[in-house]
Amino acid sequence: MSINSQRATPASSEHDLPGTVLHTDSPLVGVLVDQHERRLIAIRPIAKGSLLYRLEGHETPVPTKYSVQIAIDMHLDQSDARDATDRVRRRPWRYMNHSCDPNTRIADREVRAVRDIAVGDAVTFHYNTTEYEMAEPFECRCRTPVCDGVIRGAKFLTADQRARLGPWLADYLR
Ligand SMILES: [Zn+2]
Repeated sequence: MSINSQRATPASSEHDLPGTVLHTDSPLVGVLVDQHERRLIAIRPIAKGSLLYRLEGHETPVPTKYSVQIAIDMHLDQSDARDATDRVRRRPWRYMNHSCDPNTRIADREVRAVRDIAVGDAVTFHYNTTEYEMAEPFECRCRTPVCDGVIRGAKFLTADQRARLGPWLADYLR
């Protein structure tokens, strides 16, 4: 479904976005489809502190490339989605990118804004704040001044990195 053309909408809305936006069950976020990837973005202005959506999914003890850890031996994966549309609607976390300077955090399965988020901005969280050991580590290219480099999970944090992320770390990672 394409909602980024045809209609006249306010300047700060979806129609300026550089791709097709797929809607999720949350009125605040959508999945932007561009040439290179699908990523979660804000489709309305989101105020600091707001709840974007709650994490739901299939609970499994085995992490995957796309799972999100929710407890010491528990991860959410997307294997219960019926199809791609259902996955976008009910498992939007699947499309949430990492940033070392993120605009949301996850606590008790809630994704909340840690600062104001503008329409079109990627919705991000810091993977090391939920994951103990990533199934697929990767080199971060967020280009923020606080970039942590290779993202492998909280198990591998240096003392400095752990101190910086401290307040955001999930309870089971402290
Ligand atoms: Zn980074």
